Amino acid sequence: MLKKVGVWGYFDAPGGVRNQGYVVHMRGERGSTAARLLSTQRAINSHLAALKPPEQLVPDLIRTICETLDWTFGAFWAPAGEGDHLELAAVWHEAEAGLEEFTAGSRAYEVRPGHGLLGTVWDRGTPVWLRDLREAATPRSRTSSAAGFASVFALPLISNGSSFGILEFQSLEEREPDPELIDNFQLIGTQLAQYLERWDALAEQRRLAAIVESSDDAILSKDRNLIITSWNRGAERLYGYSAEEAIGHSVTMLIPDDRVGEEAELLDRVTRGERVSRHETRRLRKDGSIVDVSITASPVLDAEGNAVGASVIAHDITERVKSEAAVAHLAYHDQVTGLPNRVLLEEHLEIGLARAVREGRELALLCLDLDNFKMVNDSLGHAAGDRLLEMVAERFVSVTRVADVVARHGGDEFLVLLSDLGSRSVEVAQTVAAKILDALGAPFTVGDAEFEMSASVGIAVYPRDGETSAALIRAADSAMYQAKASGRGSYALYPGGSGSDPDLLSVTARLRRAVTQEELVLHYQPIFRVPDRRLVAVEALVRWNDPARGLVGPGEFVALAEDTGLIEPIGEWVIRDICRQALEWSAAGLDVRIHFNLSPRQLRQRDVADTIRATIESGGVAPEALTAEITESAAMAEAELGHSILNELRALGLHLSVDDFGSGYSSLGRLHQLPVDELKLDRSFLQAVPHDVEAGALVRGVLDLAQGLGMDTVVEGVETDAQWEFLVRHGSALAQGFHLARPAPAHQITAMLERARRAA
Ligand code: C2E
Ligand code: MG
Ligand code: MG
Repeated sequence: MLKKVGVWGYFDAPGGVRNQGYVVHMRGERGSTAARLLSTQRAINSHLAALKPPEQLVPDLIRTICETLDWTFGAFWAPAGEGDHLELAAVWHEAEAGLEEFTAGSRAYEVRPGHGLLGTVWDRGTPVWLRDLREAATPRSRTSSAAGFASVFALPLISNGSSFGILEFQSLEEREPDPELIDNFQLIGTQLAQYLERWDALAEQRRLAAIVESSDDAILSKDRNLIITSWNRGAERLYGYSAEEAIGHSVTMLIPDDRVGEEAELLDRVTRGERVSRHETRRLRKDGSIVDVSITASPVLDAEGNAVGASVIAHDITERVKSEAAVAHLAYHDQVTGLPNRVLLEEHLEIGLARAVREGRELALLCLDLDNFKMVNDSLGHAAGDRLLEMVAERFVSVTRVADVVARHGGDEFLVLLSDLGSRSVEVAQTVAAKILDALGAPFTVGDAEFEMSASVGIAVYPRDGETSAALIRAADSAMYQAKASGRGSYALYPGGSGSDPDLLSVTARLRRAVTQEELVLHYQPIFRVPDRRLVAVEALVRWNDPARGLVGPGEFVALAEDTGLIEPIGEWVIRDICRQALEWSAAGLDVRIHFNLSPRQLRQRDVADTIRATIESGGVAPEALTAEITESAAMAEAELGHSILNELRALGLHLSVDDFGSGYSSLGRLHQLPVDELKLDRSFLQAVPHDVEAGALVRGVLDLAQGLGMDTVVEGVETDAQWEFLVRHGSALAQGFHLARPAPAHQITAMLERARRAA
């Protein structure tokens, strides 16, 4: 028995040696060629059957061949680089042959097609057996000879026409070519080539499988009966089912109820052999939640081209759908209040109208406008204004039903849609309007300021007031202005029907005409000194002599005038008229201060001081005889803005008075910062006087404070003798009220002034 030791290795092109080791073999008597071929073939078959990777299989195989068929050296030359040459990939040689140097030299050798013996074998695809290596005058055969080799046999590995490399065997002994051996070798070569080919294909498949497996997308396949046949990790992640839970079950478990019909249609298309690309739909997860996905489904075809199933790739588009929804929300909602915006409301209105027409129902549209919002917004800044709008919106929503649509129309205007009403829609709408106005009842707190808010509500009803959304919006809007014109905090129905043109435009237009056609008139209310009841001043109060309605008080049109901007020409007219009146009284030797009111909107005009100065100058009156009354809230707003307007007015020589003091949100502490001469205490203070002790104390406190600040005080709303007595007992104030004198036309005031002069 011969002991034989071999060295073998498989090389990674172009790198180092893998699996190097030493194997010890016992080898018995050599049998006949046929017997040895048979045992070689058996050994090879068992190697191939073990399904080892080539880097393990090939060295084993070479070793087996060398050992059983008596070759000293065996090598596998495999395609390398771009496949344009071969390099040594695996080698085996007898340990004692001293072939390390030769093996190392072989590793540096590259087989090029057509070059040398191996190149010729590779090129031609036929085996070559060379009995005497010295016959081939090629570089490698010279090296081989030098290493002591006598014969060489090289065999191409070919499967399906493509070459997988060359097996090369060399022998120290000279060997005659053996046709039987060559035939058998060709068989082995084919077997090995097929194996390598299959292995490549398998590797490709495994690579694809790895890609599928590691894909973030869900990739699954299903058969004709919708049974899931494959399920990657992406599917596991996306749907929550493990492969074991999914495979063998029906894909219908992933389809939400509302997508069943759609799914059937998709399936139909795929079954007909069509590919469905990037179809966006929703899927049901194991935990019952819904996920938005984009699906691509391709038919799996059998050899005859019939669809036997489908492969499906599902991509999670939740994030995109979310951001799209956010964009849609942006387009359809108001950012400040989160309410639907005008666009969305109009869509609801269209739908509601269509249903109302179909089902013979009615609907109502309410248009709401906050009465005093602009001033708050201007005075406290937009952030506070926005916060206020948010709170107002919350209250509106809280008093409406879920089915009602409350929308922000823009600015301080809101719309409320009441759909699916029966024949009593007008009453329902009025109830809702009243609830909405009520909801604004409690004051609003923003920061440390408190606000009273009120709104004007206009109501339009389908079909009574209009049949299209545009007509209804117009009608509700116009009704809102009617409400505003009849005083704040009220609602009005669109007059509708035939007859009078009820448009807001007509009210505004009539008011505009009032300014130009001298329909405005000033009444004057005396202001007296306490305690001697001397008439020291008068307050000019505007009235509108509306040909249609008679004398209309400022409560009914000042708000509208402010909203429409008409307050500016009205204000100018007032100053012109008091100048005229002042001249008339002073010409008659009657000495009296005249107070006039400035609205918040007038104060916000940039050139208000210039306008007033110009008007007063052309009227030829000393500004010192005039007092401008500014409501407390407007005065405080000016203070916020640096009250330059107040300073400008004062610089003209006017006196400034804070009107309705105590009705707003200003703190007494801020009072001293205002450049004002006088406080007019809101009449609500006096209402509980004298029976309410605390109210009395409050009035006294304010009087003291004003005196401390060097300001005069006018107490408004003296309605009873008891109130007058209270003031007489407690203060050095001025007083105004129905008990003392009601507002009256100028000629009556003239008479009073004349009586007072005679009495003096
Ligand atoms: P105001 O400046 O506070 O004027 C006093 C209001 O209180 C007047 O109402 C007056 O008639 C009323 N009044 C006076 N004494 C009593 C009383 O003892 N009891 C009660 N309950 N009320 C009393 P009026 O004339 O209806 O004016 C209402 C408001 O309209 C005024 O309040 C003022 O803010 C505004 N206004 C009047 N004229 C003008 C004007 O020319 N321009 C502007 N911008 N606003 C004006
Ligand atoms: Mg006033
Ligand atoms: Mg007042």
